[in-house]
Amino acid sequence: MRYGSHEAVKGIDLDVSHGEIFAFLGPNGAGKTTTVEILEGFRRRSGGDVCVLDEDPASAGSAWRDRIGVVLQDSAPEPGLSVRECLELYAGYYRTPRDVDETIELVGLTARAGAMGTELSGGQRRRLDVALALIGDPDLIFLDEPTTGFDPSARRATWQVIAGLRHLGKTIFLTTHFMDEAEFLADRIAVLAAGSIVAEGTAKTLGGRDHLATTISFTLPRAAKATLPKGLRPLIESGTNGTSVIRSESPLVHLQMLSHWALEQGLELADIDVRRPSLEDVYLSLTAQQPGKGKR
Ligand code: ATP
Repeated sequence: MRYGSHEAVKGIDLDVSHGEIFAFLGPNGAGKTTTVEILEGFRRRSGGDVCVLDEDPASAGSAWRDRIGVVLQDSAPEPGLSVRECLELYAGYYRTPRDVDETIELVGLTARAGAMGTELSGGQRRRLDVALALIGDPDLIFLDEPTTGFDPSARRATWQVIAGLRHLGKTIFLTTHFMDEAEFLADRIAVLAAGSIVAEGTAKTLGGRDHLATTISFTLPRAAKATLPKGLRPLIESGTNGTSVIRSESPLVHLQMLSHWALEQGLELADIDVRRPSLEDVYLSLTAQQPGKGKR
């Protein structure tokens, strides 16, 4: 996709399987919205091949649109309509809509079904957005940052709603800036940076995460350093606030050596911390060098 001379998305190659929750991550300006809008049929691409539900989104008709649900980043409730009325209105746009009350229940809005859309809290409004995306009973749902601005419990509740869609056999294409969201929900993740895919995999394997070193950190009494076993001594690095750090690809072996030695010495190592690289660590290192950071 080119905007004038700027190539915003280049050579990306993605396959998303039926029934999968696929998360699309990337810094601001990486090209996520551009890609998603091409897939949704809202943006005309400059080149490349795209196939969504067996059709090219650029030429697909209304029957294809019926099979797609979209939750945009921002939306405004229909003025003067209650939650139920709004869903009834949208249901009328589709050939085979879902049952309105069942859809309201699915997103946890039954108690607010009679409330005006404009009276809903931010989190409840987002649930209404999800309900509106579901009312046509689509096969594929695009969710663009579905929990931005939510409090932690509203986020968790929305995750449960999204996870529940998997059980309905829906395919979800999720865009998010939250690593915990991608980790909780996604079967697979792709990271986009400066218009190219820099990594693809599961939350556990993305960017070689499963092979990265584990960090063991602890505070060593100064006098104890000299008695450390020979196998550990060369591995000790200085961490922040006077801590000692071991970066290990065999953490069990090194933890066993360390704890054996500490018990012998009668040392507590009270602040010992063992940390696997988080998805955020991996994401930050994958996107750190990319010029696509920073937006329009
Ligand atoms: P964010 O996370 O901030 O939403 P994004 O990954 O969705 O970012 P895009 O909105 O797809 O990024 O933008 C990708 C690049 O294309 C950016 O450099 C942006 O400035 C540029 N761009 C996007 N839309 C247009 C447009 N209509 N005209 C010109 N350039 C555009």
